[in-house]
Amino acid sequence: MLRDPVCGKKMNKNKAYAKVKYEKITYYLCCPLCQEHFEKNPKKYIEPKK
Ligand SMILES: [Zn+2]
Repeated sequence: MLRDPVCGKKMNKNKAYAKVKYEKITYYLCCPLCQEHFEKNPKKYIEPKK
């Protein structure tokens, strides 16, 4: 199960609307709006790695 970093929605990989690669990690977005938000300011939505 994947998590949309923008809206927090959980989804299957094959149901993701878009994938965006950022700093070698691929993020999956559920809709064009989430994609837009993520691409505008990815750092805002990325959870810091522990
Ligand atoms: Zn979303």
